[in-house]
Amino acid sequence: MSGPWIKVYDAANNLEAHSIKGMLESERIEVQLSGENLSAATGELPTDVLQVGLWVQEEQVSSARQQLERYENTTYNGWKCHHCAEYNEGQFEICWQCGHDKP
Ligand SMILES: [Zn+2]
Repeated sequence: MSGPWIKVYDAANNLEAHSIKGMLESERIEVQLSGENLSAATGELPTDVLQVGLWVQEEQVSSARQQLERYENTTYNGWKCHHCAEYNEGQFEICWQCGHDKP
């Protein structure tokens, strides 16, 4: 495969970018990140607040978008812990703060 690279997602930070990259790569989708190298080079902004772009090859854009849609659905289905009132993102099955189960 040698198609052009298409940006499919803007991650809010490095952590999100790498978790999405891992998710896509587990579906055999090749991913390149943009932004993080730039920020590391300037040394001014902490990399975790800089947006990171995720790029995939043209042939894999549609399958990447499907995965991203699934990712966003689970993320947006956040929940609030009944025990400690901490807000958790949808992909977590237990509260990251106190370890209680998702209600
Ligand atoms: Zn909790």
